[in-house]
Amino acid sequence: MTKQCTKCGQDKPLEEFYRGSTRSFDGRRGACRVCDSELQRVRRKSEKYRATKQRYREAHIQEIREYDRVAARWRKSREAQREQVVP
Ligand SMILES: [Zn+2]
Repeated sequence: MTKQCTKCGQDKPLEEFYRGSTRSFDGRRGACRVCDSELQRVRRKSEKYRATKQRYREAHIQEIREYDRVAARWRKSREAQREQVVP
């Protein structure tokens, strides 16, 4: 008996699908092992990436705020200069 993977669309034997989904009629997941592990890998990576970014932000929040303030001030002064130049 084979089953079609919902991800890659290939027909594969049931053994190629992880058990887990209780909703599906055969108790197997919709994506094959290859696609499933790829999915997990991508998910893990993105969560890790987000967490790293969040940690960086928290660690450098003072610098980021300072940078934003300086950038805003710089932008404002540039706009003021431009207004002075225009007759
Ligand atoms: Zn697949």
